[in-house]
Amino acid sequence: MRAVAVYPVQREVRVIDHPEPKLTSPTQAKMRVLDIGVCGTDREITSFEYGTPPDGFDYLIIGHESLSEVLEVGAQVSKVKPGDLVIITVRRPCPHPECVACRAGRQDFCYTGDFTERGIKQNHGYMTEFVVEEERYLNPVPRELRDVGVLVEPLTIAEKSLEQLWTVQQRLPWNDHRRAVVLGAGPVGLLGAMALKVEGFEVTVYSRSADHAEKNDIVSAIGAQYIAAETHSAEEMAKIVGSIDVVYEATGASSVAFDVLKHLGPNAVFIFTGVPGCNPPIPVDTDEIMRNMVLNNQLVLGSVNAPPQSFASAIQHLGIFATRWPQTLRSVITGRFPLERALDALKNQPGGVKNVVAVAS
Ligand SMILES: [Zn+2]
Ligand SMILES: [Zn+2]
Repeated sequence: MRAVAVYPVQREVRVIDHPEPKLTSPTQAKMRVLDIGVCGTDREITSFEYGTPPDGFDYLIIGHESLSEVLEVGAQVSKVKPGDLVIITVRRPCPHPECVACRAGRQDFCYTGDFTERGIKQNHGYMTEFVVEEERYLNPVPRELRDVGVLVEPLTIAEKSLEQLWTVQQRLPWNDHRRAVVLGAGPVGLLGAMALKVEGFEVTVYSRSADHAEKNDIVSAIGAQYIAAETHSAEEMAKIVGSIDVVYEATGASSVAFDVLKHLGPNAVFIFTGVPGCNPPIPVDTDEIMRNMVLNNQLVLGSVNAPPQSFASAIQHLGIFATRWPQTLRSVITGRFPLERALDALKNQPGGVKNVVAVAS
């Protein structure tokens, strides 16, 4: 079968022929891949910044944002049946008995770092025609979400963040969180803005982007406001928004993030999800930030990867988005490319939001 693979040593990315996988246990299912989303992680892997092939291979099949259709199931599989649409999770547990997180099925909190990730770290991904996976890593998706289901995985970043937010805010004996600021207007930011909106927040998207008009259309269609970082300082943005309760950071731009961190409201939570590159140090007013954080009971947390319940809530939220904002949600997907043209999908398209490799229809 065809697959898109990266060869880190040879520094090559190409469409290859890879053996078609077969069921090897009664708890597995075999899927036909339909759509694969492409994100910054894939662009970094195909620029050879990271990405590790599985043991015994000199290549890694990329792709972690998947939508696929069940073809065949093992005798003990009960959660899905042939014809069902599914999203497969990405991270697999580390092998160490002492890692309580992985042993509890919460490899998103792995202590050892020896987890694997399909399409990223020591485990082949989904940018191919067929995949086999254990039933416990499959999440059924309603047929109505066929055209947008590939957005579930990038939405799980916001879903885990929300789960963390509700958990840590149990420290407040009331439930009154109103104003959320999303940093960044890429797919992760826009999907996060939709999730926060559905959860009842007044949402502001604060972003630096070349294609304001298009992003602005999506943001206003969901009833959020867009503030451009080029024309408004973090302080000005915070004045317009009012007291900020939550920041959902989805850019990996640390300078903007630390500027905004100075302007949080009382009892606010700042959630980092972006992974910055290794840039030179920048000056940060640490006294001001520390003083604010203490005097306002503020909390900063980082969040990575997503547990099964975040996939379930992403699927549920995506269904709500598809009903509330059908056109807008579809407009997040800006390009569909056949497998042979996957390398074009990996290039940053001007004005593009989310590119998808459409493997099968
Ligand atoms: Zn991704
Ligand atoms: Zn672990």
